Amino acid sequence: MTPNKEDYLKTIYKLGGMEELVNNKQIAEALQIAPASVTEMLGKLKREGLIHYEPYKGSCLTAEGMSAAISLVRGHRLWEVFLMRHLGYSWSEAHEDAELLEHITPSRLTSRLDNFLNYPAYCPHGSEIPHSDGQIHHHPLQTLNLLPVGTVSHIRRVTEEKELLDYLQEAGITIGSSVRIVEAAAYEGPLTLDLDGKRVQVSYKAACQIYIDRTED
Ligand SMILES: [Zn+2]
Repeated sequence: MTPNKEDYLKTIYKLGGMEELVNNKQIAEALQIAPASVTEMLGKLKREGLIHYEPYKGSCLTAEGMSAAISLVRGHRLWEVFLMRHLGYSWSEAHEDAELLEHITPSRLTSRLDNFLNYPAYCPHGSEIPHSDGQIHHHPLQTLNLLPVGTVSHIRRVTEEKELLDYLQEAGITIGSSVRIVEAAAYEGPLTLDLDGKRVQVSYKAACQIYIDRTED
C-alpha cells in the first residue's frame, strides 16, 4: 500500500516537524519509499497549506497540518489501548488495526474514547499519547544495547513494527519492567536480561529497538 497524505503528516510529526525542519531523506526512510515520491507529495501538502516546505532544507507542519497529525496519532494510540485492554489484541495486532482505524476516527469519537479509557498517557508500546494541543514531553531515553552490564534501568518504549513486536512479546518484554543486562555475548550476540527478576534473552538487534531510561554515565 502506498502511504497517503495522512501517513506523511504523521511521519513529519513523529520526526519532530512541530518544532524543526525534517528533511526528505528522513521521510523517505521512515516511509520506506523513493525520495522522488516524497518530493512530489510534499509539493501537494504545501499547496494544501498543511506544511511549510523549503526545497533542499526540509519541511515542518503548519498549524493546520499539526492538528491533523495530532488527531491521527492520538486516535492511533488510543485505539491501541482500547484493543489490548478490551478486545484481547496482541502488541502487533493492536498496532496493525489502529493503523486502519486512525484514518476513519472523527474527533468526537477520539475524545469519547479518551474519556472511556480514563485518559491514558501512553500507548501499549510506551509511546506518549499527545494531548489535543499536541504537546509531548520527551523523556531522555536510550536504547537497551547501550546499557552497561549490571546497571539497572526501566523499559519505557519499543519500536512499533510488526515482526519486532511479535518477537518482543514472545520473549516476554513488557513496558515498565526493571531491566538489567546479566550477560552480553561477544560480537553483538544475544543479551541475557534480568527482567523484574525473570531471565529473558533477546537478540542484540532487538535490543537496539527497546528504549529505556537513560542512565548516568
Ligand atoms: Zn503504540
